[in-house]
Amino acid sequence: MIVTDTSTLKQKSQPLYVGDLKKIRKVSEQLFQEIKNHPNAVGLSAIQIGIPLRIAIVYLGSGTQNPRRWTVIVNPSVESQSDEVQEAEEGCLSIPNTVLLVSRPWSVRVGYRDLKYKFYKEKFYGIDARVIQHEIDHMDGILMTDRGK
Ligand SMILES: [Zn+2]
Repeated sequence: MIVTDTSTLKQKSQPLYVGDLKKIRKVSEQLFQEIKNHPNAVGLSAIQIGIPLRIAIVYLGSGTQNPRRWTVIVNPSVESQSDEVQEAEEGCLSIPNTVLLVSRPWSVRVGYRDLKYKFYKEKFYGIDARVIQHEIDHMDGILMTDRGK
């Protein structure tokens, strides 16, 4: 079930630790289970299934993620971003039937951990950068309606 209740979505999600590997695996399985119901989606954060933890699955195709594939990101954070900003349409499973124009940096360097808590630092561009920023926003309780028009 996708959460659409704003008071839940506005919560700030909590970081995961190296001792949380079982929890990380379980939540990622729940995310992959849910995303099957939404064939056009490109990202899903744990808070969207009611779990306030900093984990999301994202469908990425740049950086080392070539060809496109679903990737688990844990504790992602933007380390740096391009000055160049791009405006594009976004949707959100938690805000049904809504498309908004959202401005975001075109590229971001992101630090994140994987399922095994291994740390990565990678640069993402275009749609990938957008999806990751959208999911990090979810972890901070920020919705596209807070940014878009
Ligand atoms: Zn969303």
